[in-house]
Amino acid sequence: MMLTEADGKRLLAAHGIAVPHSVLVDDKTPWRPSMEKGALRVVKAQVPVGGRGKAGGVVLCRSDEDVSNALKRILGSSIKGHVVRSCLVEDGVAGRETYLSVMVDADAGGVRLTFVAGGGVDVEAAAHSGAARSIVCEANAGAAIAALDELLAGESEEDRIAVERLALKLVEMFFDERLILAEINPLFLSKAGAIAGDAKVVIDTNALEQRESLRTLVERSPQTYPEAWRKLREGFDLVELDPEGRIGLVTTGAGLSMMLVDELVARGGRPLNFCDIRTGQLRGDPARLIWILEWLAAKPHLRVVFINIFAGITDLTEFAGLLVEALHRVPDLRAALVIRLVGNGETEARSLLAREMPDVSVFVDLEPAMDRAIEAAR
Ligand code: GDP
Ligand code: MN
Repeated sequence: MMLTEADGKRLLAAHGIAVPHSVLVDDKTPWRPSMEKGALRVVKAQVPVGGRGKAGGVVLCRSDEDVSNALKRILGSSIKGHVVRSCLVEDGVAGRETYLSVMVDADAGGVRLTFVAGGGVDVEAAAHSGAARSIVCEANAGAAIAALDELLAGESEEDRIAVERLALKLVEMFFDERLILAEINPLFLSKAGAIAGDAKVVIDTNALEQRESLRTLVERSPQTYPEAWRKLREGFDLVELDPEGRIGLVTTGAGLSMMLVDELVARGGRPLNFCDIRTGQLRGDPARLIWILEWLAAKPHLRVVFINIFAGITDLTEFAGLLVEALHRVPDLRAALVIRLVGNGETEARSLLAREMPDVSVFVDLEPAMDRAIEAAR
């Protein structure tokens, strides 16, 4: 699975590799004009695909106005089938463009290191013309470091030192994070050294469980990495029980959630899923709620979303606020809502919901809430 450039660069930076200064702009974090005369900024769409430059997803900007216009055009647009939810606004970097990558080469049965001194977007063409130098070695850090020496032997001393310093860190990252591909194109070379102008990082989703660094990236962006996110969760948070189910469940607590599924079935209802959203882990972020609501909204037989939260420590007022925000962010959800909230802060939570969503009935007792859900699903 490919990471967005922003996440790839987070990983590079965490391994000591220089990346340009940047800010990540999305609908929650607007761009603050700040350019000095003559400066260069690059607006870059954050979608997990390569070739954004050619698809109009990378724009070089000479003024704040250029940046604003580029953001207006790119945010919310679609690039190669991916909706652009955020953009990097990066300080432009000067220097010669080169190319560096480390990848698993299954056919050759090892790890392939590639360097192109000429760089540029079209590396395949470079490989054909012989400008790309590439070495396959055994899949361990020692062999890769020896291969690096050989790979860079033809470069000027200045370039060799700069590239090698960075490449050692890239090799270390590649093995530490058990990556499939770590590619930097362009890798800028100048008097200031080597700076990663782009990051194309492909991770092995089977390594997610063991690599906290990768897990953190996936968990903070469920919308960007829905499958990996779900893979991390599946088995305990969200399980599809009946693809033709009509009642979508947003519930917390494994035991209570299972009981609710059974009770609904006993009353002739068709619950679509089991869910343990773990309200205690939301920490003021609606992302998880948005993800589940989007997942439910895509189900063709969905008629009703039943939200049942029995809160011990969780503050229901906060939960209700997040729920309202999440519902606003998922306009495609065309299903009836049945909400039952019990526990800490329920009075304020209920008045907040009455204010924000006056048409939705919020229940205290489970029985009438279940009856309403089953009725709405008919
Ligand atoms: P990709 O097309 O998805 O690989 O996106 P890149 O981030 O590689 O950007 C495409 C091209 O834009 C690069 O190959 C560069 O030519 C150019 N570019 C991107 N960032 C910079 C920068 O900071 N300075 C300069 N001069 N060019 C840049
Ligand atoms: Mn690139």
